[in-house]
Amino acid sequence: MYLVDYHLHSNNSFDSNATIESVCEAAIENKINEICFTEHFSVKEGIKSYGFLNLKKYSEEIRECREKYKDKLSIKVGIEVCEPHENEEELREAIEYIPFDFILGSVHNFDYNVGLNTYMSKNTKEESYSRYFKEVNKVCTSPYIDVVAHLDLMKRYAFNTHGNYDFNEYVDMIKEVLTNIIKSGKGIEVNTSTLRSVVSETMPSVDILKLYHELGGTIITVGSDAHKSEDVGAGIRESIEVLKNIGFKNIYRFENRKPIAIEI
Ligand SMILES: [Zn+2]
Ligand SMILES: [Zn+2]
Repeated sequence: MYLVDYHLHSNNSFDSNATIESVCEAAIENKINEICFTEHFSVKEGIKSYGFLNLKKYSEEIRECREKYKDKLSIKVGIEVCEPHENEEELREAIEYIPFDFILGSVHNFDYNVGLNTYMSKNTKEESYSRYFKEVNKVCTSPYIDVVAHLDLMKRYAFNTHGNYDFNEYVDMIKEVLTNIIKSGKGIEVNTSTLRSVVSETMPSVDILKLYHELGGTIITVGSDAHKSEDVGAGIRESIEVLKNIGFKNIYRFENRKPIAIEI
């Protein structure tokens, strides 16, 4: 089948040293047909990703790689936006600069610039997880995103201190988030990065994926969230199997911010 990895970072993100070429080469090596770079991006002053991504340099590098790997790999251009519901006007202007194929929306901070790790270390397990789902609910209807990234990301930070959360305790909040995503025509992703950590399950969990399917959700992407070339494509094949078993018929890729189904 046509394999894709729709969550990738290069050194155009503040937290990666991988060159765009090394990511493309790793994808080709790993028999991935299409990749989408989703570099961190924010218009919020004072947070780590602010001002880091040079859109001109980024689009230039994408253009060069599309040419260099044109017979081997399809390359899409995207971003991962922090808290897109804040500063919407600045975001709207900023994203006009490049015709993006795909935009992920993320919650990485609470209260403008408090990182999730800091928040969870000063708050209870219940406060940490419920606050997270509350914030995701604000992000998920933003017109400036296509897909909500790592829908239960708090577990990546809270796992060691508070442990994983019990799906049943938060199911009402999660249902509300998923319903809003479906109603607004957005999607979710399966982020495989936590398969490579102590958490050892995807974000979101299989329980959330099943609920999304039950509620009629169809738009779903799969991404490794690799920050180094060794991780490109990691967990993609396994996650597609999981989605098939749940009953999903397709995963999605994007062009000009429009979802295109890939049969699985
Ligand atoms: Zn993220
Ligand atoms: Zn990411």
